[in-house]
Amino acid sequence: MMNVASQVRDVACDGQKLVEVNLGAWSLPSDCTEVTWHVDAAKFGPSDLGPADQQTLVMDGWWLLSGPSSILRLAPDNKEFLRIRLNSSNSTQKVSLLPPLSAPPGYFLMGNPPEHNINVGEVSLSYVIEDLSAVTAFVEPERHAAALQYFGSVLNSTDERQAPKLRVVWFGVHKDKHELSGAAGYDTLLANYVIPEQNPDPEYFYRPFVLVLHEQFHQFQKTDHSAGPRPEWLGESLAQYYALKASLKSFPSNDALTAIYRQETDLDAEITIGLLEVQRQIDTDKNYERYSLFYSQGVRFWAEVDRMLNEVGSGNTDLDDVLPGIFQISFRYGHKIPPEFRELLSAIGEEKLNAVIKKYLIGPNDQ
Ligand SMILES: [Zn+2]
Repeated sequence: MMNVASQVRDVACDGQKLVEVNLGAWSLPSDCTEVTWHVDAAKFGPSDLGPADQQTLVMDGWWLLSGPSSILRLAPDNKEFLRIRLNSSNSTQKVSLLPPLSAPPGYFLMGNPPEHNINVGEVSLSYVIEDLSAVTAFVEPERHAAALQYFGSVLNSTDERQAPKLRVVWFGVHKDKHELSGAAGYDTLLANYVIPEQNPDPEYFYRPFVLVLHEQFHQFQKTDHSAGPRPEWLGESLAQYYALKASLKSFPSNDALTAIYRQETDLDAEITIGLLEVQRQIDTDKNYERYSLFYSQGVRFWAEVDRMLNEVGSGNTDLDDVLPGIFQISFRYGHKIPPEFRELLSAIGEEKLNAVIKKYLIGPNDQ
């Protein structure tokens, strides 16, 4: 994990203190039965830490235990779920299973978190938040759940996978501390919202909501391992496009969300490089400088493809119909477009499809 400060100290095995052999690495004796360590929790205050810090936090009567900063793992990667027992000074005890290292990081709640459950259809969503009204004034949890139902219908349409149980831990921050960031775990997501002050700008509330949907789209997808690794350009652009699409479906006449959608799908914005070349720079040169184009330019690619599919289907088809198929394609061709991908979108017509792929994915300077 990048830039996550460790909160671990006093690592011991069966009561014997262990020596840190490398930064954040301890060597276990072969007969070790139980490893213990202390975690120094940070206090959460609206102007101190944000979700992106991914720290273990102590609130009033509850704790958020953060996997990236506080939970030791066995190396090499164990594929098994590990059992972990959490002890705290007021003797709250909880036994949990840790997802394997290949899964996203885990976040655990302890004590008595202020948790609110929302069940709509097959969707189970919960909010952990100190002041529920601060968020529900803008985003009704039922509409949020409706957006998740939509994800379920477009992603799970081919089989009977269960919709995941999702949880959002909301942290209120002051406007000047606000940054659009979140941290997505296996099923728990940390996000921040701006503490309502005078005349709050609705965008401060809806931008985080779009971010939450983006991460939850990933969480939905993570329950599906059918098609192997996907390039980032594909995963990120689709997560962002569907976050926007789902938010507008749930709030059809919301001015702030409509404005956000228009900004992000501005088809006139200049294009200097194709997304496949950006992906190549990441994979071969570890150059992440243009990563954000996956969200901006990628969203515009899908907006245009979606509109074209809708047009050829006279309003009866759109991107939703081919989405499960896209996730079945193996992008084993590296930085080229697999023929199956063109095949899947062939309803658009060869000429128009080639033009949109050239414009956004191949770019003006490549063939
Ligand atoms: Zn993402």
